[in-house]
Amino acid sequence: MVIQTIKLKNFRNYEQEEILVSPHINVFYGNNAQGKTNIIEAIYFAALGRSFRTYKEAELIRFEQEDANIQIAYEKNGRENLIEILLHQNEKKTIRVNDVKLARNSELIGHLNIVLFSPDDIIILKQAPALRRKFLDILISQLKPNYVHVLSEYNKVIEQRNALLKSRKIDTLEIWNEQLANLAEKLISYRQEYIQKIDEKIQTIHPLITNEKESIKITYKTRFTTKEKFLAVLEQNREIDLAKGYTTIGPHRDDFEILINHTPLNVYGSQGQHRTAVLSLKIAEMEILKEETGENPVLLLDDVASELDMERIRLIFSKIKDYQVFITCTDATVVTNHEDLTNKIKLYKIIKGKLEDVAKEA
Ligand code: ATP
Ligand code: MG
Repeated sequence: MVIQTIKLKNFRNYEQEEILVSPHINVFYGNNAQGKTNIIEAIYFAALGRSFRTYKEAELIRFEQEDANIQIAYEKNGRENLIEILLHQNEKKTIRVNDVKLARNSELIGHLNIVLFSPDDIIILKQAPALRRKFLDILISQLKPNYVHVLSEYNKVIEQRNALLKSRKIDTLEIWNEQLANLAEKLISYRQEYIQKIDEKIQTIHPLITNEKESIKITYKTRFTTKEKFLAVLEQNREIDLAKGYTTIGPHRDDFEILINHTPLNVYGSQGQHRTAVLSLKIAEMEILKEETGENPVLLLDDVASELDMERIRLIFSKIKDYQVFITCTDATVVTNHEDLTNKIKLYKIIKGKLEDVAKEA
């Protein structure tokens, strides 16, 4: 999978920009607050229909403008494709793939596959389970359109059920429980399948990164795996759910756990162990996407130099040379000094939402 051009109009601080990108390593460098991450955000948005920085789409529209436009032309399986997103100040966004207007955001996912490495990733394994579910949901969604569908149905049913619990109109609760349990069973089965795949991958990746010093294990944590068990647990929790006014168990509350040398990372892990474990997860994500789609995902590395030491940066760089990569950094030498990437780098200097192509200097 290779992006060819990125066109932005009134997106963040870009007024109008067309970027012909390299199929190899694209490095966007410049001072702080110039618009480097904004480029990564645009690509991410075209892939997943949402930003990793905000839920408020209006924030993506250039100040004082009515709408914004992202167009990404890319090649996949030997075919040319075009994703177009039009964001409006007061209306729902419009998404087109190859000139066909999509009815739902979820239909976009899986066209352009990406893996994002961002400084915020370091907290994935530390903080609340929501971030870990999001990591898993994004990986599976990019591979299984049905997962996106089941997940969105599940979330709708949860909303309905919560509304019933709040209003205490529980005469139809059983019908909703039944629907919820059907969807929950499917979600959990997908998630367990992919946790298993991640586990297989990190068994080779992690020892490599840690010079064989650490063992790693990832497990999905849920209170049930079958529909019947879920129905039973829902019944058990009925009073609690009613008292709280929302559904207290289910895949929307599940989590996964990482053990490093047989102890839970989130409890005992050092800062460095967190960084390394996240890296293992991300590399696993890259490899799984590659294996299952037969195409390399596009890699987005936002400001990785700010969070990772030279050794870990070197490690990532040694893994990415066959991929199309978009890297942002304040100092381009972080990338240009790296031997593995020589001859593959295209540099762009960013100043106040404008792009300077400095490929010749590279
Ligand atoms: P850093 O090195 O600090 O990460 P960066 O180059 O990655 O910086 P970005 O986050 O890409 O910076 O861009 C930030 C800039 O974009 C800021 O100057 C901000 O004011 C501007 N900006 C953000 N949203 C909008 C918008 N909707 N309209 C106009 N400008 C915006
Ligand atoms: Mg940035």
